[in-house]
Amino acid sequence: MRRRLNKARDGETLVIATHNKGKLREINELIAPYGFAAISVGELGLPEPVEDGTTYIENARIKALAAATASGKPALADDSGISIDALHGAPGIFSARWALDKDFSKAMERVQQELVWRGAMQTPKAHFVSALTIAWPDGHMEDFEGTVHGTLTFPARGDRGFGYDPIFVAEGQSQTFGEIDPTEKNAMSHRADAFKQLAAACLG
Ligand code: IMP
Repeated sequence: MRRRLNKARDGETLVIATHNKGKLREINELIAPYGFAAISVGELGLPEPVEDGTTYIENARIKALAAATASGKPALADDSGISIDALHGAPGIFSARWALDKDFSKAMERVQQELVWRGAMQTPKAHFVSALTIAWPDGHMEDFEGTVHGTLTFPARGDRGFGYDPIFVAEGQSQTFGEIDPTEKNAMSHRADAFKQLAAACLG
């Protein structure tokens, strides 16, 4: 049976287990209506654990459990990435690692080059995936996975998002995730999809 996050039993603070500012902003916005105070692992001075899982959920579990154990509070982690059909699902769980020196313009250039080499630049299909895990300090964990499908566009457009947002256009949209209003992205994104499931099963 699913365990729910109960303010009276679990305390009012949820640790957000990410050092990524873009994710932190989006997760804060998603949890705001539920009334939990959020503190990030960065604010707590906790280190980034080694993400050596082979799936999004394994990596989300590593981050959530490390934060919950170190802080003694429930912790929420996101592991996410983009999968490109013509690249057989790459970069996938390696999405952050394609950005050498954390420079996502390099990662997006690499995507474009790989698509050009394969002759696959005609509206390439892609999807973002987000795995969200809540871990409790006693080691209990709950996992959820969300997806948003779309296509890639070049050159990159917009500076309102993070990561691969400037080259991703969600199905039914004309603007990239880098151009749309952040509130709109947060209503339709892979992270929003996973969070809706998490909120229904575990929050409130
Ligand atoms: P990780 O979960 O820390 O391994 O990093 C996931 C990486 O996937 C991020 O650094 C971004 O590059 C990419 N990513 C995940 N979610 C998004 C998103 O909503 N927009 C753009 N890029 C994303």
